[in-house]
Amino acid sequence: MQYQKLGNTSLNVSKLSYGASPLGGVYGDVDQSQATRTVHAALDLGINFIDCSPYYGMTKAETMLGKALKGIPRDQYFLSTKAGRYGPEDFDMSEQRIRKSLDESLERLGVEEVDVFFLHDIEFVDLDIVLHESLPCMEKLKEEGRIRYYGITGYPLKPFREVIRQFQVDCILSYCRYGLHDTSLASLLDYLDENEVGVVNASPACMGLLTSRGAPDWHPAGSDLRKRAQKAVDFCQAQGVDITQIALQFSAQHSGIPTTLVGTANPAFIAQNVEWINEPLSTELVDEVRSILAGPDSVWSSGLPEN
Ligand code: NAD
Repeated sequence: MQYQKLGNTSLNVSKLSYGASPLGGVYGDVDQSQATRTVHAALDLGINFIDCSPYYGMTKAETMLGKALKGIPRDQYFLSTKAGRYGPEDFDMSEQRIRKSLDESLERLGVEEVDVFFLHDIEFVDLDIVLHESLPCMEKLKEEGRIRYYGITGYPLKPFREVIRQFQVDCILSYCRYGLHDTSLASLLDYLDENEVGVVNASPACMGLLTSRGAPDWHPAGSDLRKRAQKAVDFCQAQGVDITQIALQFSAQHSGIPTTLVGTANPAFIAQNVEWINEPLSTELVDEVRSILAGPDSVWSSGLPEN
């Protein structure tokens, strides 16, 4: 496993990191023994960064992750969780709720501090609140030693630029914006670098769209993109390759992205993913799959209308 520093932080994160949202049952039911085996497989194979949120399975993912991490020395992994999103339409980024949320998350996760604390999906909240209440609260939590670093997450790229222009955050978490179907995150990387902001790239399999199982019902992709994804899956299958392999390799190979967060609740998938990212990638195949996936609706809207 390769490791790279996350922006200006002291966190030397693994190239492949572990997204714990599937432990909340977002892709299907998961029991504790499966969750524990998955987390242990990730740590055993050199993955050292784990991401979670109270939103995933409405606290279930954090609870399962906390149980899975029990007994593992705290210096063996970096942990991020989030505050501000508690349901599909339930957002609260007030100082009071962020503080309460952190207390609750630490309790569920069974740790005394998190390495990175994110505001979850800022595009759904008035930017004034984010800039003048939520982020100053994150800074205070850092000064108080309750969190080591903090950042923001979201789907549209514009709010990242706007926040970074006005506030020094340690890192951002972007999802579904650097993968086979869309690479627009690449246009933000120089700006992030100039501003010493680390980048976590999440969802290389586009939240299940780029898997042979296909996207879950709640996935925001429209029907045309889903159809093109199915074509791409079939094309890869005909070439004897799993589309998820190419998706992961493509995202993880970008040298300007220190870590790529992949979610699964299957320990065998963790082992496969770690193997895959070390294998050579055919640029010809990548080009063909990207051309099948390309289309005007490869991105979707998310958050308040101005985003
Ligand atoms: P992903 O793109 O990592 O895809 C997950 C899907 O891929 C699951 O269905 C999983 O079973 C499947 N998969 C993984 N390995 C596989 C393999 N080897 N073979 C076949 N299928 C495989 O999407 P994700 O899990 O949603 O994203 C990763 C993580 O990023 C999340 O768990 C979460 O921690 C983070 N995230 C954060 C935000 C946010 O902050 N707004 C949004 C999305 C994701």
